[in-house]
Amino acid sequence: MNIWTDICVNLTNKRFDNDREQVIQDAVEKGVKRMLVVGTCLESSQKAVELCAQYPQYLRATAGCHPHDAKTMSAQSWEQLSALFESPYVIAIGECGLDFNRNFSEPEIQLEVFSKQLELALQHNLPVLLHERDAYKEMLSLLAQHPKLKKVIHCFTGSEEQVQGYLELNCYVGITGWICDERRNAELQGAIDVIPNERLLIETDAPYLLPRTLKPKPAKGRCEPIHIEEVSQQLAALKNIPHDVLVAITTLNSTQLFDWPIDEAIL
Ligand SMILES: [Zn+2]
Repeated sequence: MNIWTDICVNLTNKRFDNDREQVIQDAVEKGVKRMLVVGTCLESSQKAVELCAQYPQYLRATAGCHPHDAKTMSAQSWEQLSALFESPYVIAIGECGLDFNRNFSEPEIQLEVFSKQLELALQHNLPVLLHERDAYKEMLSLLAQHPKLKKVIHCFTGSEEQVQGYLELNCYVGITGWICDERRNAELQGAIDVIPNERLLIETDAPYLLPRTLKPKPAKGRCEPIHIEEVSQQLAALKNIPHDVLVAITTLNSTQLFDWPIDEAIL
């Protein structure tokens, strides 16, 4: 039986407020038995940790500050966020990074908040879940300053040349339903070729990024962890490897990057 590991699920998002338990139950029944619940600010990180405590077999959390939320960080929130890094459920720092596409926070503030999280990741010996939009050069130069950092570039959507840059810095690469979007996946499809299997991870980024190839379209129009199969099928076809093998490899990769052993009880 396939055991998927979805490395980016926004399960604390309000779009899951009415049926969060059902979404998790559906995922587990399908075989999506390992989900990394991402925090994007202090509050969602705290909620992610609380949710893990309810489903410790299946869920782990990240704690961190997304570039959009960089402007919300105060001395007090740094203290509270750092306390979360001590939780046994928190296995990565993030999402953190740079987003110069939308600049919901000023670029200088984003750089400061991101750099600080990279330092904290090294101090706490945790990997980072990276988000980058239109900030490739700045991101790469910051990562190059921290060669020992364990990291994954989440929802990678860029070119072959860009993925090479990340791979040279020993990044894992997270692939989402973006790969299923024929309007904007041409460049990404080219990049998939050069990613070694041992660097691949899969993610839904639910409730965002509903795979466009999904048939029939879910009534709620929302992406859920169960839809990881659409991503893994597309990716296996592009990598030209059997689907079961791709699922097993990506789960194995997640155990290594996040130091997240497979709980025998879920098998
Ligand atoms: Zn992101």
